[in-house]
Amino acid sequence: MREIAQILGVTPSSLRDQLRTGEMVLLPERVGSAGLCVQFGWTRSAQSLYRRKGVLPPPDGQDGRALWWWQETIDSWVEATELYWCPDCHHAFVAAAGAREHWTRVHG
Ligand SMILES: [Zn+2]
Repeated sequence: MREIAQILGVTPSSLRDQLRTGEMVLLPERVGSAGLCVQFGWTRSAQSLYRRKGVLPPPDGQDGRALWWWQETIDSWVEATELYWCPDCHHAFVAAAGAREHWTRVHG
């Protein structure tokens, strides 16, 4: 969100307001591998592991070699999935054990 705001030359909070009121619409709402990494704090390798293990929903499409998902697909997945967020570095884990291991290894 901050990066988009920067590109558009507005503050993140005014961008949020403009999106809420519909004054500004960001289309198409698609997210690629890099976007997922930003949203969930994943490395590219973690993201690709989650994808290959079927933790993530299958991509909605592909541009060349780049996979993408509708943001809505990701939003529904988040709703249906219990994610464990690291409170310190904004990194999402799909298993409590993974989150604990991360906490001990990185912040312990
Ligand atoms: Zn962390």
